[in-house]
Amino acid sequence: MTATLVLGTTNQGKVRELLELLEPFDMSCVSLVGLAGAVDVAETGASFAENAALKAQAQARALGNWVLAEDSGLVVPALGGAPGIHSARFSGPAPGADREAVDARNNALLLERLTGMVGRDRAAHYACHATLADPSGRIVAVSQGVCGGVIAESPTGAGGFGYDPLFIVSEYHRTFGELSPVVKAVISHRGRAMRAIIPAIVRSLAAA
Ligand code: IMP
Repeated sequence: MTATLVLGTTNQGKVRELLELLEPFDMSCVSLVGLAGAVDVAETGASFAENAALKAQAQARALGNWVLAEDSGLVVPALGGAPGIHSARFSGPAPGADREAVDARNNALLLERLTGMVGRDRAAHYACHATLADPSGRIVAVSQGVCGGVIAESPTGAGGFGYDPLFIVSEYHRTFGELSPVVKAVISHRGRAMRAIIPAIVRSLAAA
């Protein structure tokens, strides 16, 4: 019997997408939602890679379990890389606030910061760094994925989560809010990072 994989996040949008990406591999997966023993991890790293490592190691040690953590976000070069590693809390900390309200606030701030900017100034990309830690907290595998696009003038579509209604995917000229989850799984930063790390996850859990 293979070991259980803990998905090191409580973000329901991420959990949904990670479960879909792992579904073909017939693994036992649980998220941190309601998981006893999970800890709050301060994201004090200076990069997506550092924060993914912090989350994977801390949860693995706290839970004594295999943990797949990812840190991801939206990067807008014309804004000096913002919101970047601060994507989840771009419009300020949100203790107790519901995720959808925070996402709407973040999106409004992004549009405000891009007021008057056109063309290449609205170029952006999503980045995702994934890290697998073993039950002792040792990092076993890392991967990354990016997805290029442009920030729309206004939100379109109700699919995805976070900045998706504003993120026009270069290849499709549609936002991730409009595209199906299947398309997002194939071309997204998360899909790409996951496909690069899944072989190591399958190998590690089978041998555990
Ligand atoms: P993290 O939980 O610290 O990794 O922050 C991730 C944040 O980046 C999310 O809360 C969103 O604001 C943003 N983000 C990351 N991936 C996506 C995505 O696939 N769609 C929309 N927003 C995303």
